[in-house]
Amino acid sequence: MSVNLQTPIDYLKGVGPNRADLLRSELGIQTYQDLINLFPNRYIDRTRYYKINELQRNNAEVQIIGKITGFREVAQKRGKRLVADFRDDTGMMELVWFRGQKWIRESLKTGKTYVIFGKTNWFAGKFSMPHPEIELQSEHERNLRSAMQAIYPSTEKLSNKGITNKVVTNIMQQLFLETKGRFVETLPASIMTDLKLISKSDALFNIHFPKTPELLARAQFRLKFEELFYIQLQLIIKNLIHKSKIKGFTFDKVGDYFNTFYKDHLPFELTNAQKRVLKEIRNDLGSNAQMNRLLQGDVGSGKTIVAFMSMLMGLDNGFQCCLMAPTAILSVQHYQGLQELCKPLGISISLLTGSTKTSDRKIIHQNLENGNLQILIGTHALLEDKVKFKNLGLAIVDEQHRFGVKQRSKLWHKNELPPNVLVMTATPIPRTLAMSVYGDLDISVIDELPAGRKPIKTVHRYDSNRLKVFKFMKDEIALGRQIYIVYPLIQESEKMDYKDLMDGYESVSREFPMPNYHISIVHGKMKPADKDYEMERFVKGETQIMVATTVIEVGVNVPNASVMIIESAERFGLSQLHQLRGRVGRGAEQSYCILMTSHKLSQDSKTRLETMVRSSDGFEIAEVDLKLRGPGDIMGTQQSGVLNLRIADIVKDKDILEQSRYYAKNILKLDPSLISPDHKVILHTYRQMSKYRNIWNYIS
Ligand code: ADP
Ligand code: MG
Repeated sequence: MSVNLQTPIDYLKGVGPNRADLLRSELGIQTYQDLINLFPNRYIDRTRYYKINELQRNNAEVQIIGKITGFREVAQKRGKRLVADFRDDTGMMELVWFRGQKWIRESLKTGKTYVIFGKTNWFAGKFSMPHPEIELQSEHERNLRSAMQAIYPSTEKLSNKGITNKVVTNIMQQLFLETKGRFVETLPASIMTDLKLISKSDALFNIHFPKTPELLARAQFRLKFEELFYIQLQLIIKNLIHKSKIKGFTFDKVGDYFNTFYKDHLPFELTNAQKRVLKEIRNDLGSNAQMNRLLQGDVGSGKTIVAFMSMLMGLDNGFQCCLMAPTAILSVQHYQGLQELCKPLGISISLLTGSTKTSDRKIIHQNLENGNLQILIGTHALLEDKVKFKNLGLAIVDEQHRFGVKQRSKLWHKNELPPNVLVMTATPIPRTLAMSVYGDLDISVIDELPAGRKPIKTVHRYDSNRLKVFKFMKDEIALGRQIYIVYPLIQESEKMDYKDLMDGYESVSREFPMPNYHISIVHGKMKPADKDYEMERFVKGETQIMVATTVIEVGVNVPNASVMIIESAERFGLSQLHQLRGRVGRGAEQSYCILMTSHKLSQDSKTRLETMVRSSDGFEIAEVDLKLRGPGDIMGTQQSGVLNLRIADIVKDKDILEQSRYYAKNILKLDPSLISPDHKVILHTYRQMSKYRNIWNYIS
């Protein structure tokens, strides 16, 4: 009979109540199952032995063969430590214990040959190893299980209580003895053959006790694939259920608004990417399932026109549409732009923000409810309960990462049937990450900028080159262009940032004196009215230079501004640098981005700057950002539990992720209910997974 893997860990030989409690509280291990799925962090090559004279001062973990030649106790502030002299034929080092001294002293003998393993320290001209793993050489040779030894996740408390890596390894070994190392297969035969995967049992054995590096690699591949496969499967099923359950409005026809606009009023030729995305949206809207789509497109890729033409599809079918933006500035900009496009088509459009007057508000409310108003643009104000539509058919959210999930879902309830939803973002999320985080949304990407845009020239300059930069600024201003100079604003050192900004402003004022030059300044400490005034002067071209903090990151659109200078650029994140750079390059002129830094740069800063200079592709930049910072920091991913991966790594294992998604998609396409005999194992595993939530709580 096979062992029940849901057996509490207490029952495993060698565990006992104390250790069981610790394993539970420190590592969350409750059952046999949990223990099997405690995957090692890394492996150490235990076939390599070091000589003492080979040791480097790098704190590496090493294994050494030698003899203890003597013990002594050394008094210290509190208590004492036990020190042993340890020698091989090349030199001498010390072993040190701060705890458990009595037991150590009794169990270790001078003159015998031991194998020690642990981290080395260099102190006062000597190498030492605190609390080494130590065993007699004869024992060591008997126990040597495999070349690669697993190192398990641990905590300070665990090691203090004597649950060393060796203990965990022994417990794991016991588990394999009791279960005979046989585990139920969780992937279908078709995938196993296709990808030449090793069996579940072989994978689990080799992940814990690798026989060879090759088998370890295959075990890792199989387990990573499995983890990602079931996450993708879950996301795709969620998406399919959503489509079949949630009926949306169907926009049957493409009518006059759309066709007239397309034929007579489109201000430019659409890019191929825009056309493709419009087709994707058209397909969604033409089906009777509710659209739930994410549109990604770099700054300036032309998302707005796609949003507008999607709204036209809604209007053609007699529905109202709305567009929500995160700030008043952005809403106003959208409103002004779209109003122009609506005019020749005779479409009614209004703007609703926090500062809309009560009397205007009333009219908007009325016209929304009686259906006279066709398009509403605005901020969060759209979400208020008082805002009621007659028949909202499509809701669009711009810069969706600035809204919470709650706010988005509020839009859904603006109708009995939820409206079709399109969310747009200019913060590109690498595809791999998007798949995992937004796997239940459909994703469209505009990956092409409108033709004729001149790429922004980006350079990195050191502060010592400032005079040359000033000269360049003067030349550009002489050509009639405007310039941004941006200073970092980081909360913790706001005072210093403010000083940097003011110092910078002063030196710029000295270099660019009135009456030839005029400078605007905008920062967070100013009154909103003063900010608006300064901004307005720059927009109108009355000032040539705008000195500002990152407040200008979103929303400003000054096509005549062609130079972006970013001060202390090393202090900005990559995506922020990219967003800032997106403020220029909006007009016909060649634009420039100058990244100013001191000479002192960390490796990461260098990578960020090099990436900015090399690339203007938001997706590529996002990939680098992801590698530097890890997925946890990328906007909008924090809430996503999907990223609690046990063995796979969303950045490094991107190829496996794509492969797993491909298989999950295909399987569900051919067999959506998973009824074929080959897929029985998937269905079973998937059901278990829904029951236990964390996938590794059920897999095996
Ligand atoms: P974003 O994707 O950042 O929201 P916008 O929709 O604001 O970008 O578009 C940026 C600019 O590019 C706008 O001035 C818009 O009119 C223009 N634009 C959009 N699509 C095209 C196109 N196919 N050809 C030329 N210009 C375009
Ligand atoms: Mg936009």
